[in-house]
Amino acid sequence: MAASERTLRHYRMFCRRCGGTWDAAYDVVTFHDVEGDQDLFYRHGLPAMAPWSGVSCPTCGDQRVAVLPFRAQAPNPHAKGRAVKEGPDAA
Ligand SMILES: [Zn+2]
Repeated sequence: MAASERTLRHYRMFCRRCGGTWDAAYDVVTFHDVEGDQDLFYRHGLPAMAPWSGVSCPTCGDQRVAVLPFRAQAPNPHAKGRAVKEGPDAA
């Protein structure tokens, strides 16, 4: 049986080029079905791309943008981890 839930998620965006950060809020509708969890993103009531795809830095326009979830609401034990691997570059 499919179920869905709607949550407001805040993301902190970080530009790898200029180092700028900004916040973005998305309405996320998550469907749970036999295929697994599927997230649909909305901003201002309109369908939107996921925050980690097709986002440009408002300062420099670069698309090398990292997404840092900074206020998770209602942790979902079924949610897939989207861990961002951050580590010191050895080179
Ligand atoms: Zn930038």
